[in-house]
Amino acid sequence: MPRPILATIHRPALRHNLARMRAAAPDARVWGVVKANAYGHGIARAYDGLRAADGFALLDLDEAQRVRDLGWRGPILLLEGVFESRDLELCSRLGLWHTVHCEAQIDMLAVHKTHQPHRVFLKMNSGMNRLGFRPAAYRAAYARLDALPQVDEISHMTHFSDADGPRGIAHQLQVFLEATRDLPGERSLSNSAAALRFGGEPAVRADWVRPGIAVYGSAPDAPVHDAQHWGLQPAMTLSTRIIGTQDLQAGDTVGYGSSFTAEAPMRIGVVACGYADGYPRHCGTGTPVLVEGVRTRLVGRVSMDMITVDLTPVPQAGLGSEVTMWGRGPGGALLSVDEVAQAAGTVGYELMCALAPRVPVQVE
Ligand code: PLP
Repeated sequence: MPRPILATIHRPALRHNLARMRAAAPDARVWGVVKANAYGHGIARAYDGLRAADGFALLDLDEAQRVRDLGWRGPILLLEGVFESRDLELCSRLGLWHTVHCEAQIDMLAVHKTHQPHRVFLKMNSGMNRLGFRPAAYRAAYARLDALPQVDEISHMTHFSDADGPRGIAHQLQVFLEATRDLPGERSLSNSAAALRFGGEPAVRADWVRPGIAVYGSAPDAPVHDAQHWGLQPAMTLSTRIIGTQDLQAGDTVGYGSSFTAEAPMRIGVVACGYADGYPRHCGTGTPVLVEGVRTRLVGRVSMDMITVDLTPVPQAGLGSEVTMWGRGPGGALLSVDEVAQAAGTVGYELMCALAPRVPVQVE
């Protein structure tokens, strides 16, 4: 008998969230961001739910090949571009659009012999200080690319550092608009947070938006807002079952390090999910969890294969009861991945991406 743990990918939620992002950025085209194996959902599984996107944005040639193998003939964008000149050949063959963020990538293109001209997104570092040309160097980079016969279309891209926070996007937006003024070509600026918060502004949604986290149903600005606030539905549920119970006496402790002590007699459930399944070890006593759709709390430490939960609010629960670690529980109950992430001091992105390969996955 396999362990009762299971991840479920909800295709209707992916479709709903994609439509939600279209509504947030009307008239813009949407890159469905499927890097990191579609944020842990699996590229093939996510593709099924996201094929109404206008294109797919991802990280490397392997992911691009997988999307082409699934039958996608539309645009694919390599978000970090190519790292070695021999990749340009495959890039051409797969018909990929690729990001150009540094001089070395222009050098590679300049000596590349190609039958098929390249479409590139030139990336500006408008303030994030990760990838891209600084505004003062941007026009020169554009001119170099524009002079290359290997390049037939240049679009413009930047990435916001604080679209989800109080600093917002105003400064970077201004920098980008000023530095790209009068340059021909399409523009793409917004991730999920920028599109949801500021996508009403035409300059922010521009020609293409690049939502990742929102299409998977997690709030980009949690805990300020939750996914429901943005009209997003969870696309991943991690569920399991109770595989044991213990009746504790006052003073009994639970698990490694005896970090939880029962103050009065209580019943706990032992649940088949641990950090080797991708559940964060940093979740401690008090982290929310659903048992039979009823909200209760984790007690004690997360072990490799198990956690322990307080059954006080669910006296009927016992061996085999359904436990929802995040996502959709029975009876329409919801537990956001963002809430669990917050308890672990991280973000929903990390939890979804960290789902362990040993967890079986079903699609519905
Ligand atoms: N665009 C770029 C360049 C990114 O690196 C990312 C993700 O980190 C995204 C878009 C999608 O961001 P989010 O998942 O916050 O929507």
